[in-house]
Amino acid sequence: MLTAHGLTKNYSNLPVLKGVDIIVSKGEIVTIVGSSGAGKSTLLHILGTLDRPTGGEVWLGDVNITALKGNKLADFRNRNMGFIFQFHHLLPEFSALENVCIPGYIKGSKKEEVKERAMYLLEILGLKDRMDHRPSQLSGGEAQRVAVARALINNPKIVLADEPTGNLDSKNARELHELFISLSQKLDQTFVIVTHNEDLARMSTRQLIMKDGRIVSESSPTTPPSI
Ligand code: ADP
Ligand code: ADP
Repeated sequence: MLTAHGLTKNYSNLPVLKGVDIIVSKGEIVTIVGSSGAGKSTLLHILGTLDRPTGGEVWLGDVNITALKGNKLADFRNRNMGFIFQFHHLLPEFSALENVCIPGYIKGSKKEEVKERAMYLLEILGLKDRMDHRPSQLSGGEAQRVAVARALINNPKIVLADEPTGNLDSKNARELHELFISLSQKLDQTFVIVTHNEDLARMSTRQLIMKDGRIVSESSPTTPPSI
């Protein structure tokens, strides 16, 4: 599914990634933990083509995504990758449903099909009665679940999440992480999640620990990924 090899990244000659290899299979939930400054966000951004590596390649399926540029890259990203960040970044003037639909409209899918899938996703995320609400009318946990639905609207090959629970209280954080597990089971959805929360990181198929620009260890979960 996703393969990266030999990834390096320098910021003005300062090495931040020092040779990262990673293989993610379909349906996996891979979590990445490590102290602040270890290079987790940089790695996730490079995997998601939001940033370019200094060296190495990232492949999604049989496409070398490090070689894509311009409109081709933007289109490939919108069709194949979903993103979730610490803050939901929903557009305030649109309803929850409209926010979820936007990447589908950009892709050029049929409006009715986009809307139908958006409603389905919002329903399985427990937001059936929140579809017409504006972001300001939603709780933090609800808004973040809308962002999850938006990330999933184009049926992406992979969802990349950077501290998705970082702005939530522990109950909402756990619920969101349980949703990721449920989505990986229901939709065979693949996730790579950067998190500070070690309890949540263990609820995964694999946990990678980053230190000083490298993946220093990999462990299978102590808690089985079920809810
Ligand atoms: P983490 O997500 O593990 O906290 P980051 O990937 O955000 O780590 O950052 C790794 C290192 O790279 C840090 O020392 C950070 O200051 C540096 N860094 C990140 N982005 C940039 C940038 N755009 N320019 C210069 N240095 C950066
Ligand atoms: P956080 O620690 O809140 O997750 P990040 O470390 O991911 O924040 O950085 C947030 C943004 O700032 C990113 O776009 C990153 O590239 C940029 N950044 C981080 N560190 C530096 C730095 N030392 N110099 C310039 N930009 C940086």
